[in-house]
Amino acid sequence: MKPLPREFNILEIERKWQTKWEETGTYHFDARDKKRPSFSIDTPPPYPSGDFHMGNVLNWTYFDIAARYKRMRGFNVFFPQGWDCHGLGIEVQAEKENKVRKREIPPDKFRKLCEVLVNKYIAIMKEAVVRLGISIDWTTEYRTMNPDYWRRTQLSFILLHKKGLMYQGTHPINWCPRCETAIADAEVNYDQREGTLHYIKFPLENSKDSLMIATTRPELIPACVAVAINPTDDRFNKYIGKRIIVPIVNRAVQIIPDETVDPEFGTGVVMICTYGDKADVKTVLHHKLKPTIILAGDGRINQNGGKYASLTTSEAKKAIVGDLDKQGLLVKTEKITQEIGTCDRCESPVEILELKQWFMRTRALTDDVEKTANKVVWYPDYMKTRLIDWARSLDWDWVISRQRVFGTPIPVWYCKNCGEVILADESWVPIDPKLENPRIKQCPKCGRTEFVPERDVFDTWMDSSISCAVHAGWPDSKDWRRLFPADMHPSGIDIIRTWAYYLMVRHLALFNETPYKSCLINGMVLGLDGRKMSKSLKNYVAAPEVINKYGADASRQWAAAGGATGSDIPFRWPDVEYAKRFMTKLWNASAFVSGLLKDYEPDEKAGYALQPLDMWILSKTEKLTQAVTEALDKCQFNIAMEEIRNFTWHVFCDCYIEAVKDRLYKPEVYGKDKRRAAQYALYAVLHRLLQLLAPIMPHLTEEIYQTMYAEEKEFKSVHLSPWPIPNTKLVDEGAEKEGEAIMAVITEIRREKSEKHMPLNTPIRKLTVYAGNEESANTLLKGKEDIAGTCKIENLDILPKEGEGREISLRGIRFVAKY
Ligand SMILES: [Zn+2]
Ligand SMILES: [Zn+2]
Repeated sequence: MKPLPREFNILEIERKWQTKWEETGTYHFDARDKKRPSFSIDTPPPYPSGDFHMGNVLNWTYFDIAARYKRMRGFNVFFPQGWDCHGLGIEVQAEKENKVRKREIPPDKFRKLCEVLVNKYIAIMKEAVVRLGISIDWTTEYRTMNPDYWRRTQLSFILLHKKGLMYQGTHPINWCPRCETAIADAEVNYDQREGTLHYIKFPLENSKDSLMIATTRPELIPACVAVAINPTDDRFNKYIGKRIIVPIVNRAVQIIPDETVDPEFGTGVVMICTYGDKADVKTVLHHKLKPTIILAGDGRINQNGGKYASLTTSEAKKAIVGDLDKQGLLVKTEKITQEIGTCDRCESPVEILELKQWFMRTRALTDDVEKTANKVVWYPDYMKTRLIDWARSLDWDWVISRQRVFGTPIPVWYCKNCGEVILADESWVPIDPKLENPRIKQCPKCGRTEFVPERDVFDTWMDSSISCAVHAGWPDSKDWRRLFPADMHPSGIDIIRTWAYYLMVRHLALFNETPYKSCLINGMVLGLDGRKMSKSLKNYVAAPEVINKYGADASRQWAAAGGATGSDIPFRWPDVEYAKRFMTKLWNASAFVSGLLKDYEPDEKAGYALQPLDMWILSKTEKLTQAVTEALDKCQFNIAMEEIRNFTWHVFCDCYIEAVKDRLYKPEVYGKDKRRAAQYALYAVLHRLLQLLAPIMPHLTEEIYQTMYAEEKEFKSVHLSPWPIPNTKLVDEGAEKEGEAIMAVITEIRREKSEKHMPLNTPIRKLTVYAGNEESANTLLKGKEDIAGTCKIENLDILPKEGEGREISLRGIRFVAKY
């Protein structure tokens, strides 16, 4: 066996193996191999943000541990990687970096700017993924902005359109006035912000009386279409059915009953505007009121706003409040904290507008989503309710069109004459309707020949929500069902409502089948202040900072050990430092063992003269293997990590190696056979630990394996070696009990020396052990040589009777040492 050097440079080791693994295709999926069962991972293609943060480290580490474990379990693992390019975030960033507005330059040019940015960001992120040691099969890499991917998104749209699941409609939608595009429910965040509640008098029609209304959005008064009162509110229900005058526009509207009005909020009298919030949308639909839309796409007041037209909402608010004040209708104002919807990308307050959009009929599939989600295996199990609750909470169908530039084009034209929708044929895609006409001679309805392209593009989730099928090879591969549904879909807890949901609903619609068999959820990473880590909170640590300092294997240990799967995980530097110290401990132990095994030749046939301590460590190793296997089967990475770390550090290094050193150094005292037995145990246990640790610490384990074991074991990488099946024959409770008793004596003697500030190799002239009974004495006698050798005892007596001396905790054994 080759000796392991005393020192190691983790960053060099990591880089070396990353390059070698890639060169030798260690992690390639072998499509021709149909003997091994396949295991497909639906790696979520991330938005190229150019950042790789500790949250990324957490989720990539999770699914990489799963991939590496399954590979060792004998699966032909398919672990692809793509990039979900078309985010609104890229457009916002491209505008910032190039100091342009997308509407001011030709779409083609703007697309190019976005592509350059995306490629730059992907390069940064890919480097980080590689440096983290993620076992991706990079031959699978794809970008959703490439026409080959458009083709798949467009084809899926055409198929769903033919099934009647895509439609155009005018319906209230979430709208970001800054980004000037429709956005989905999932892209709206809810923030607490300070607002002002204005108390405004609304005069009753044909009466001197008035009702007071409290609103945070007086700028929407011109869009007021009704006033609502809870019918159980005895103060005001007498006014239901009467008419009231909307100030500013002097329009009379109906006072309507509505159970959802909270009599405790504001004055209990509410104006219904089109649209201040989602509650307005529901009330308008329920009472079939005719909306008055006063906001344009750029967030300014339109012509319906009369004299306030062309003002921004905040200008209009100021002007209207001023006018109300002049008319004596503004009674008072007060500050309140309110929850408002904001754009996920730019944090601007979201408005609700009515515009013609493309929708997918998702709500019709809600029952199916729930049924399927219940069949999927969730890690952890309770996460499935997040998906089901979200699906159940959706008020609207999914708006899939976006008024953006950088996105997959919607493959549709309209007849210029009659407006007929011309859907692209399946054989035309990929196609950009803005650059090409439909490949038909005339409108099938009116026979005219002029067409207008659809200028909108798809929501980026339209691209990424077919990943399970695309990864499997749909629609080109005949064999795509082999990898579909995906065996595992990993997702962050924050994107269950998007990624897990959209995948589910799209694949159910397309194939009437679940897209994934299991779902692995990671929590959020918390900063040092206990809040979710984010740049804006200044509690942010970039992943490269951690990896540059301590290496990938230490970072991965933090991710694995940080907490239960699915829970939020705090980032703490001491955790990574501890991980690095563990690696140093493992390295030093391995280097030491490699020195002791220089002359060792494994030979199963010859057998081994195993001593109680050898049987003890071998038995415990089998139990460890069992525990780690069970934990990894359940994706309990923290349990696996802690089990191995405790065992390696405390049982293997601190106890066993220390207790057999003497035997290894002095064959002339113990005899060759007993020495060889210890060599065998060291050889086997260390190899086992490397295997168990390989999914979590792929680099360091590979380095040690390659130096010490590769020559004798036939696998060219520890990651291609089979996962150890726990050998129950080696679990020996009796041997464990004996070994434990012997170990306890050794540990207690060493403890006494260190309490007396003596070096551990201080000789003991005479030591008497009072075992307390025959049985204990016989056990300890079996380990007499190891006890005496390890503790440097010149004369050791082990007696069955009881006696005085230092007690070995709870064992009834006492000893007296004379130094
Ligand atoms: Zn926005
Ligand atoms: Zn026509």
